[in-house]
Amino acid sequence: MNIAIDGPAGAGKSTIAKKLAKEMGFVYVDTGAMYRAMALYFLEQKTDSSDEDAVTSASDAVNITIRYENGEQQVILNGENVNGKIRSEEVGSMASSVSIYPNVRKKLVSLQQKLAADTDVIMDGRDIGTCVLPHAEVKIYLTASSRARAKRRYDELQAKGVTCDFEAVQKDIEERDYRDMHRKESPLKQAEDAVLVDSSNMTIEQVVQEIQKICREKAVCR
Ligand code: C5P
Repeated sequence: MNIAIDGPAGAGKSTIAKKLAKEMGFVYVDTGAMYRAMALYFLEQKTDSSDEDAVTSASDAVNITIRYENGEQQVILNGENVNGKIRSEEVGSMASSVSIYPNVRKKLVSLQQKLAADTDVIMDGRDIGTCVLPHAEVKIYLTASSRARAKRRYDELQAKGVTCDFEAVQKDIEERDYRDMHRKESPLKQAEDAVLVDSSNMTIEQVVQEIQKICREKAVCR
């Protein structure tokens, strides 16, 4: 059984999906982490993200695999565990720039589909309900206002001791939304059969409960 959760940056997809996976006994697959690992490679190689040919040919040398340690997804880039290196804004922004290219997507989509074929997964990303798992039993489009998402991101950065400007964080989120929603290849959009959940005024627990309710209605919860 597969549950697909799509939505823009900062909507809370990974926090919610992780909790749901734990409670429901599913495996959580974070597809953004795969795009980030690919982006890390391009940053290390100093590949020009605006040059599709350069990105395409560099991507031939990228091998990404996934393994789980104590239930946590680990992304392996050419043999190296890169989980500790992919969470920066720089990597996120590079991921959004290169994920527009079909060759980058093709490689990762096929890995994601293989993972979902073998196991019950909750997978989050931008194109899971629309492209990767079009037959998922449950599809959620999780969103929130850009202000609410920026506030969460800002609080997270502050808690880590990173000084930042709220307006700049919101602008970055809006730019990323625009790129992800307007690209030609698998743009972020709500699948026709996805249920919209707006978490702007909801706690994490409320969102988890809401999605579990949707799963029960579709008879996916055990
Ligand atoms: O979700 P996360 O912020 O880690 O994703 C980083 C970037 O990777 C996104 O902004 C998006 O451009 C890209 N991505 C994608 N398709 C996915 C997951 C992520 O294009 N399924």
